[in-house]
Amino acid sequence: MEDTPQKTCRYCGKSLPEEAIFCYYCRRELVTRPERPTTEPKPIKLQTWVAVGLVVILSVVVAYLLLS
Ligand SMILES: [Zn+2]
Repeated sequence: MEDTPQKTCRYCGKSLPEEAIFCYYCRRELVTRPERPTTEPKPIKLQTWVAVGLVVILSVVVAYLLLS
């Protein structure tokens, strides 16, 4: 018989396979998710890049018109 790694449910104390992500007995999640920092920087939205691009294009057009 293979000696499969076991872990113990921290809620009900039953032994479970190491790869179990939730307890088969009390149905609680066993995986510990890392806490997300509340000050997580938000990814820059596409609209922001579009707006930046428009501003750049407008600046180039205005500069071209002024210099010509
Ligand atoms: Zn359990």
